[in-house]
Amino acid sequence: MLKVAKFGGSSVAGAEQFKKVKAIVEADSDRRIIVVSAAGKRSKEDHKITDLLYLCNAHRTYGVSCEDILSQIEARFREIRDELGLSYDIEAAFAALRQKMDRGMSVDELVSRGEFFTAQLMAEYLGRPFVDAADCVFFGMDGQLDREKTYAAIDAAFREKGPFVLPGFYGRIPTGRPKLMPRGGGDITGALAAAAVNADVYENWTDVSGILMADPRIVKDPKPIAEMTYGELRELAFMGASVLQEDSILPVREKGIALNIRNTNEPDDPGTMIRERIEGGEEEDRFITGIAGRKGFMVLTVTKHNMEQSTALGQALAILDQYRVRAEHITLGLDSFAFVISQAALGDGVFDLIADIKKTCLPDDVDLKDGLALVASVGRKMTFRPGVSGRLFKAIGEAGVNIRTIAQGADELAIVIGVEEEDYETAIRVMYDGFAG
Ligand code: ASP
Repeated sequence: MLKVAKFGGSSVAGAEQFKKVKAIVEADSDRRIIVVSAAGKRSKEDHKITDLLYLCNAHRTYGVSCEDILSQIEARFREIRDELGLSYDIEAAFAALRQKMDRGMSVDELVSRGEFFTAQLMAEYLGRPFVDAADCVFFGMDGQLDREKTYAAIDAAFREKGPFVLPGFYGRIPTGRPKLMPRGGGDITGALAAAAVNADVYENWTDVSGILMADPRIVKDPKPIAEMTYGELRELAFMGASVLQEDSILPVREKGIALNIRNTNEPDDPGTMIRERIEGGEEEDRFITGIAGRKGFMVLTVTKHNMEQSTALGQALAILDQYRVRAEHITLGLDSFAFVISQAALGDGVFDLIADIKKTCLPDDVDLKDGLALVASVGRKMTFRPGVSGRLFKAIGEAGVNIRTIAQGADELAIVIGVEEEDYETAIRVMYDGFAG
């Protein structure tokens, strides 16, 4: 068995967290490539090293000294080193960094030092070689990841050095300059490493025991999801659940590698296991996997009597396209159709869009209602099971929540309803109580 384990910022925030990581890594010799984020927050009031580095850069941009912040960052690393009795020469590394900053250093290079130093310390602490992401994560001149070249380099490093520690979040472009990934990009590095060595499992260690069935700010103590498919993860992420974005784990999904989300602070919890397909072995007959939702949608209804529906609808869709807005749902009536679209995506552009629809489709009426929230119940076990939507709508109705739109994908993986924003929390709670408990 071969595992790649990625530890997020909160898992490496200080010496105590480093100790937990070491215990986890040593408990399973399959955990061979270790990917780390930059040290994150130790408490609510604390700051992520990555944020502090961005702040340093902002100071430099405006010609203000960033020495205070830089010494704060240096002190964080020194503290980890000293508490763990390591010998990495932080002082010399920061002296060199200051010199380089004076000569001019790109924001990407500066910010990447957060993961670089965290990984240096982790490598020494675990007694494993440090492999620099600048030597094995590559971007093309177009700024896109060069996956094949990256896979080959990570695989070669693994063959040559055996288990190692790799900093997340950055790589380099062909000219040799470091380039950052989007925020939270350590997840991408971990997925790339897992795909590169064809790992059996990609473990993503964070500070929650896996993905929860619903937002804990709305539902009290929601249950964790033991296992789910990549398809379900995609639906939940799309509907706004704070889970790993599918983009960032594409490399592992493509290679059929399982993803296990685990909690560094509760290493005995099994977390959530995500696979392409799940057959049998389901201990309970809960058929909703998770519930997620988002506020901030509007419904645009176009009415035209005796219309050639396909023509008018096609024209209206083309106009949405011009405005680069996607219709979340489309409902069709005999003499009307309606789009659910995101308010934020369109902003004030909605008035121009309506004007264009009026000009092109010549409708009898165009109506716009905002303040809509979408709530999705996601679950592979809902598929082709009769009566699920009936039960769902009944429960929502009994709670006095009016359903304004309904949509179910053809794959029946999600049922999405639109409700008034003020009913959003109630709808989520009712669904959870009725179907998850
Ligand atoms: N340190 C980076 C961030 O804070 C990347 C990561 O944590 O994955 O966004």
